[in-house]
Amino acid sequence: MITPAPGSAPLPDDAPEHAEAARAVAPVICYPTESLPPPDLALYAAARAQARKTGEVVVPPREGGCVPVRAGQFLRISCPEGPQVGDLNLWNLADPSERFYSGKTRALHGTHLGVGDRMWSGFPTLRPMATMTADSLGWYGVDGFGGRVHDVIGTRCDPYTHHLLSGGDYQRCCHSNLTRAFAGWTGQSAAEAEPLVHDVLNVFMCTGFTADTGQYFMKATPARQGDYVELFAEIDLLAGLSACPGGDCGAEHSSDVAQCHPLLCEVFAPPPAALEGWESPPVNGYDGSHGIAAP
Ligand SMILES: [Zn+2]
Repeated sequence: MITPAPGSAPLPDDAPEHAEAARAVAPVICYPTESLPPPDLALYAAARAQARKTGEVVVPPREGGCVPVRAGQFLRISCPEGPQVGDLNLWNLADPSERFYSGKTRALHGTHLGVGDRMWSGFPTLRPMATMTADSLGWYGVDGFGGRVHDVIGTRCDPYTHHLLSGGDYQRCCHSNLTRAFAGWTGQSAAEAEPLVHDVLNVFMCTGFTADTGQYFMKATPARQGDYVELFAEIDLLAGLSACPGGDCGAEHSSDVAQCHPLLCEVFAPPPAALEGWESPPVNGYDGSHGIAAP
């Protein structure tokens, strides 16, 4: 059941006769997910309770960082000092050409992620890379502007759009921070690393679309010192995180104006016995032929 919007915009004078009827057609969900096996959140919670910390990376303000997270481990991202938005990339640790696909994740789970939602990889693997298992901002829900937290809408702030709109060059956008972090991890040049940087999960970011113009909006994150999300790694991952130059993203990004804070990435490993019954998901089962007969 899809809830109707509170009101439709007025129709233009030259609207066709069937306009009202067309607008009255009820929508259907594009990708019902009932056929997907639900994540075993009780198993994850029990494993997390037995996990011990094995590593941490502090991402400084307006910087990026990378942290490996093995399949079966948990990645906790938190605000150790104050409100801060993070832009998260995920790669397969062994093959970074397999990477997070925010668009399909959005199509499957909605514009913002919460506990139990998956982060999916792109084609041809299309499988869960991570599952959100904890979220201290789960209480936020949806506000009166349509704002929610942890979006998979906003791509990432980048120096190209900034140059397009302002004419200036800024080197601390999330896209550049992720490029530097990934290049530093792999030993690649910026030119080699940049194409593997991809659309993100906007951790802690509070966003939505305006009701009148449908424009993407942001507002100050409700995250405070100590807030966190946790992700369970379904496959071996390299996580890349940028502490966005927008800080809490309440005013502007792509500049040095906003007050920024670091982000903390911690890895927790449960004992293998705690994950009995869980298996790392295989790559997608589609045959890959696209209707082209083999020669
Ligand atoms: Zn950013």
